[in-house]
Amino acid sequence: MPDSDHPRDFQSLPLQQPLLKNLEDLGYTRLTEIQAAALPSIVEGRDVIGQAKTGSGKTVAFGLGLLHKLQVEQFRVQALVLCPTRELADQVARELRKLARAIHNIKILTLCGGMPFGPQIGSLRHGAHIVVGTPGRIEDHLRKGNLDLGEVQTLVLDEADRMLDMGFQAVLDRILAALPQRRQTLLFSATYPRTIDALATRVLRDPLKVEVAAAH
Ligand code: ADP
Ligand code: MG
Repeated sequence: MPDSDHPRDFQSLPLQQPLLKNLEDLGYTRLTEIQAAALPSIVEGRDVIGQAKTGSGKTVAFGLGLLHKLQVEQFRVQALVLCPTRELADQVARELRKLARAIHNIKILTLCGGMPFGPQIGSLRHGAHIVVGTPGRIEDHLRKGNLDLGEVQTLVLDEADRMLDMGFQAVLDRILAALPQRRQTLLFSATYPRTIDALATRVLRDPLKVEVAAAH
C-alpha cells in the first residue's frame, strides 16, 4: 500500500501542463507504487535510488523527472540514461519518446554498441537533448570527442545492478568524470547488493531511497 501522503494520480503532480495532458492521452492515470514514492522527490530535483522489479514503471518515473526540467530551446545534451543492453536502451528510448510527444522538436538519441559508428556520429553532429545508451559506446564517443556531456543535468543509471554484473564499473567511472558535479542522479536497480550501495554512495548526493517489494 502506498503511504497516504503519496500522490495517487499524475494530475496531482507539479508537472508541466503539456506533459500532464499527454499522460492523459496515453491513458496513464494512476501512479504505480514506485512512481508514487519517487516522483515527488524526482520532480523536486533530489537524487533518488529506486529499487523495484522490472515492469514497475521506473522508466516513467525517471522519464517524467528529466522531461519536466528539460529546456527544449537549449539544444544540447541535458540528460544521459545509461542502460546495460541495447534492448533495454531501445525500450527506454521508446518510452521516453511516448512521454515526450507533447514537447515539440525534442531529440532523443540512442547510442549503443553493436551498431555502426557512422550514423551515430552523424546524429551527434545534429545534436540531441537526451542520450540513451550503453556504457561502452557512450565512452567510445566521449573518447573520440563526438559527445559533450558537460551540460548534463540529469544522469540516470538504469538497471545499475546489471551494469555492474556486466563489468561496467570502470567504464561508468570514466563517463562520470565527463559529467558536471552539479546534477541530479537517479539510480534504479532490481537488487541492492553491497556493490550498488558503494556505487550509490560515491555517485549520488543525499539520495532518497525508495524500495518497492513487488510489481503488483
Ligand atoms: P520498468 O522500467 O520498471 O521495467 P516501465 O517503466 O518500462 O517499467 O513500465 C512498464 C510498462 O508499464 C510500460 O509499458 C509502461 O508504458 C507502463 N506504465 C508505466 N507506468 C504506468 C502507469 N502509471 N499507468 C499505466 N501504465 C504504465
Ligand atoms: Mg526499466
